[in-house]
Amino acid sequence: MVTAQAFPGALDRDGREALNAGVSDAFWLDAVKRLDWMTPPTQAGDWSFEKDDFHIRWFGEGVLNVSANCIDRHLTERGDQVAIVFEPDEPDDRFHKFTYREVHRAVCRFANVMKSQGVRKGDRVTIYMPMIPEAAFAMLACARIGAVHSVVFGGFSPEALAGRLEDCGSRIVITADEGRRGGKSVPLKANVDAACAIAEIDTVIVVQATGGEVTMQDGRDIWYHEAAETVSADCPPEPMNAEDPLFILYTSGSTGKPKGVMHTTGGYLFWAAYTHELCFAHQPGQLFWCTADVGWVTGHSYVVYGPLANGGATLMFEGVPNYPTPSRFWEVCDKHQVETIFTAPTALRALMREGDDFVTRTSRSSLKLLGTVGEPINPEAWRWYHDVVGEGRCPVIDTWWQTETGAALIAPSPAMPLKPGSATLPLPGVTPELVDADGQVLEGATSGNLCLTTSWPGMMRGVWGDADRFFQTYFTAYPGKYFTGDGARRDADGYWWITGRVDDVINVSGHRMGTAEVESALVLHADVAEAAVVGMPHDIKGQGIYAYVTLNADATPSDQLRRELVQWVRREIGPIASPDALQFAPGLPKTRSGKIMRRILRKIAEGEVSAAALGDTSTLADPAVVDDLVANRIGQ
Ligand code: ATP
Ligand code: MG
Repeated sequence: MVTAQAFPGALDRDGREALNAGVSDAFWLDAVKRLDWMTPPTQAGDWSFEKDDFHIRWFGEGVLNVSANCIDRHLTERGDQVAIVFEPDEPDDRFHKFTYREVHRAVCRFANVMKSQGVRKGDRVTIYMPMIPEAAFAMLACARIGAVHSVVFGGFSPEALAGRLEDCGSRIVITADEGRRGGKSVPLKANVDAACAIAEIDTVIVVQATGGEVTMQDGRDIWYHEAAETVSADCPPEPMNAEDPLFILYTSGSTGKPKGVMHTTGGYLFWAAYTHELCFAHQPGQLFWCTADVGWVTGHSYVVYGPLANGGATLMFEGVPNYPTPSRFWEVCDKHQVETIFTAPTALRALMREGDDFVTRTSRSSLKLLGTVGEPINPEAWRWYHDVVGEGRCPVIDTWWQTETGAALIAPSPAMPLKPGSATLPLPGVTPELVDADGQVLEGATSGNLCLTTSWPGMMRGVWGDADRFFQTYFTAYPGKYFTGDGARRDADGYWWITGRVDDVINVSGHRMGTAEVESALVLHADVAEAAVVGMPHDIKGQGIYAYVTLNADATPSDQLRRELVQWVRREIGPIASPDALQFAPGLPKTRSGKIMRRILRKIAEGEVSAAALGDTSTLADPAVVDDLVANRIGQ
């Protein structure tokens, strides 16, 4: 346990519990006044998770515009305050700062360019961009005119892009000539050209980002900077119903084919803004840096919508954590005086592996809070973040949530007591429950399948184009409840620990074990940088444990080290958890958002290595990793 510390503007544990206890319709209708409404809502939640009457609506009768909430309403008070800080891939290239007034002009122009291309309310617009301010301008411009954006991460292939375009019936793409990441260029426009050969695309708006050479097709492609000169910098925000769709976002695909998760206007924006303030004690004017790409939900909620709705300053970083050196994150913090950094365990583990010097040679004195999201954070990485990066000064805010949930659901406030590896307590209106495989509700300190029994404003409203899939995927496993697909443990103190996806629970001789636990034990070893653990068929035990281990830069694989690591896990957790097979892996298969794709590791451990068995690998960051894993599989 890390004792609570005072933190300006943050609730302590009693404060959070009192807030949670006071949730009611009146509470929501009052809380949602943080947004500017053209017509205020008269209803809070109106929902049912039951099959016969399945519906989810929030803030009925309410009319608002997301871009007006993120920009226009701040103009009087903070028009000249910085809204977006842009840090380019190359540390020596010029950085830019945009005030709210400048963002307003840029977004209005972008909106007018789209209108001039025939984009109307309800149309889907695909955004395939590098992490440059124009990506945020494009998102806000869609919101301004009521178009539904679908941001596709710039690292995706033309095929993956085309698939997403077709799935949501989008005929317009906003892209850039090229992107820059880690010193390399990404041929975005060329990828769009290739996607155009697969999907039907009428219009491509191209932002000039690097000046790299591209081919423009007459009648289809237009340069943004040329079109922007011909339109006005004034565009009135479209009045939108609270339940009108705001965006579609495809999940990262760690468990299967990506789903087009649909979020709506009022509930989503409220939840992004409200959780941003509660979890990070955010005050207007503070500089907040979420390192996620806008291609992920974290980038939507905590790079763009949350911070801007709250009148904050948000940092957009084009690059990667280890370029030009593993000091980059902390150098950026020093350069711009970042107050909160919010990143992912995968980035932390990668940086931790390079040694503390890259951190300690920077100042980090501006940092007040450290956030994490995306995967369970193993206690070792949590400690390193807290002790080395934050020098023990900065609370670690571990936020558990999903693309489907819109923004954080279980997370601490900075003044609460923390436990390394626990996301602590639910946010107001979030009602987690543990059930066993038969749906029996589990009480007290125990682990089980994590469900949510009530609706909250930021929850997804549907899978795009597949009305049934939403209900089928999330509400049929345990009727009347939203099933998250994750496993969790509630400790004696009422704190929540996410143990990983339920599919990842291994049953060894009747003992159920979360893979995250075994992985955390492995990572605790001084030579181990990262570990992924899956179940494999075992004649005697039913399931055995197969561990993939990536070593630190200065460690070498050997049979002796393998034996040592198996012993190590035995000692840390118990004999039941000893890995039956341990494979050294130079890299693990990860989604482009950095999550380990365990379904592939499971197949390899089971010896099923055909392309058909490995399934959809289109969302893998580096498909070559799989070949190495297959070649060095244990037990062939
Ligand atoms: P797909 O649904 O397509 O398989 P995905 O689940 O990886 O992809 P996301 O919505 O980006 O896509 O990820 C949500 C999942 O990430 C959660 O269900 C959980 O497993 C994990 N997760 C996110 N944040 C945390 C956290 N703080 N602690 C533990 N797990 C987390
Ligand atoms: Mg998921």
